[in-house]
Amino acid sequence: MSDRIALRVSDLDVYYRDFQALRNINLEIKEGEIISVIGANGAGKSTLLNTIAGLMVPARGSINFFEKDMTKNPAHRTVADGIALVPEGRRVFSRLTVYENLVMGSYTPRSRPAKDKELEKIYELFPVLKERHDQMANSLSGGEQQMLAIGRALMSQPRLILCDEISLGLAPVIIKNIYKQLKKINEKGLSIVLVEQDITRSLKASSHAYVMLSGKIVLEGDPASLTEDQVKKAYFGV
Ligand code: ATP
Repeated sequence: MSDRIALRVSDLDVYYRDFQALRNINLEIKEGEIISVIGANGAGKSTLLNTIAGLMVPARGSINFFEKDMTKNPAHRTVADGIALVPEGRRVFSRLTVYENLVMGSYTPRSRPAKDKELEKIYELFPVLKERHDQMANSLSGGEQQMLAIGRALMSQPRLILCDEISLGLAPVIIKNIYKQLKKINEKGLSIVLVEQDITRSLKASSHAYVMLSGKIVLEGDPASLTEDQVKKAYFGV
């Protein structure tokens, strides 16, 4: 991990019509760092990732990525600038093959020329995707679909990936494997934001954690220094 700040989110407010889903969010991630954002259902975690990814426009505040202002970037520009989202629920294209799904991830001018090289790297990371490259995505298991969703994000050659609930509904052995592979790509310099329900695993993988409650960050710090009591209190607001 370097000391260089990759992403800085400052004073972010986000609304769904009249409902304020994010309140004054401040967060940063260094180049090559893994951070966790945890919190109960409805705390605003997905809204935060979707806003960073350019799927929602904040009412106030700013998003900077390697000092570039991305606050009003639409999603396709955000991907081109190096941020890729692994969305909640995987959202693979079910009627396309594994190969076609992966190629869909390399549509930006920067990543298109490197398509074959990236594909090989992803097949090395998740060999099962290579074995199933001409199978329809809807014939894959949940774990394989999650690997595909991560692979598709990596095809854009991001410098930061935003992972929304990648463990949800998967067997522990699959989750362990996915985390192991994420760690490998992180060691090559990729920054990662983890939003998880499986907080034990995500906190263990992270060097910094943010706990959200009702749209606000109510606790943050090095996961090793946060007590279980503090996290529980912040998580449930009791
Ligand atoms: P979960 O773990 O359940 O996905 P979360 O922490 O990711 O929860 P968000 O999905 O970001 O939370 O939701 C934050 C708040 O915004 C919730 O109160 C939710 O009901 C509300 N919300 C989310 N999407 C919309 C929408 N499209 N329109 C209106 N309100 C929404």
